[in-house]
Amino acid sequence: MHLSVKSVLSVLSVALVLSVSSAAQVRTAFPEKRGLKLTDFPRTIKLADNVYGYEDIRQPGFTTVSLFVVGNDGVLLADGQGNAEATKKLVDAIAKVTPKPVKWYVVGSDHGDHTGGNSVLPTDVTYVVTPFSKGQLKLDVPAMAGDTQVINVGGIEVRALYLGRAHTGGDLVVYLPKQKILFMSEVFLNRVFPAMRSAYPTEWVGVIDKALKLNVDRFVPGHGFIEEPKASREELIEYQKALRAVIAEVNRLHKLGLSADEAAKQANWGPYKEWFLVDQQGPIAVRKVYEEIEGKLK
Ligand SMILES: [Zn+2]
Repeated sequence: MHLSVKSVLSVLSVALVLSVSSAAQVRTAFPEKRGLKLTDFPRTIKLADNVYGYEDIRQPGFTTVSLFVVGNDGVLLADGQGNAEATKKLVDAIAKVTPKPVKWYVVGSDHGDHTGGNSVLPTDVTYVVTPFSKGQLKLDVPAMAGDTQVINVGGIEVRALYLGRAHTGGDLVVYLPKQKILFMSEVFLNRVFPAMRSAYPTEWVGVIDKALKLNVDRFVPGHGFIEEPKASREELIEYQKALRAVIAEVNRLHKLGLSADEAAKQANWGPYKEWFLVDQQGPIAVRKVYEEIEGKLK
């Protein structure tokens, strides 16, 4: 094959442009692929004045994200970490930012990897929780009376919103209307394969539609990395696409008359097979979408 100097140069320049744009930010939940080491965590990321994201690594190597808001009257924390030691680190990270105590705790996800360390929070912390998640956590506190609870943390308005059933059934997202930030907890698993053990797959897609309609600059996930604003919207849309693709693929396999086990073996996840947890979560998603198709998901 003959290659002219000119065509070689144009191939080289395309390669150069690609490497420059990918150096900007690789979209993945794998820390090492983003050029990060496990020793870079936990880390606190300032998202706006008095608003911080917090990423720590959990097994098997992706991030669990918490959000905290520092108001004049104290700190609001949305989601903790998976055990007392990890949540103590989070509380210590908050103490480096402000001497104010954690006064409110929003249960975005009631799952153990976000609540397992809650025993280290101040005992008088005020919970913001849906009736469903209150039941899951066996909390002896008042639950939200409606779908919205407004919390004034002292100069900053925070809204806990129930947009419907998604990853847990009691999912809350945390909206800061002035800062245009939406912490989505496990409604948004950035580049982590859709985890459906306790999910409502089709309703989850609709919850993301509602989130996308809010006036938001930056969507913050519950797992995976906090992205810059523009990328965060693109990745939330990508995540919704992944949910739709998983549901469509499982519907295709169900129509073939396959058992859930056989469908799990034959599933073609397309680009999403590169996402974190695909081997563990793929078969679980198949079983959950089968339940939904067969009307067993109430
Ligand atoms: Zn989780």
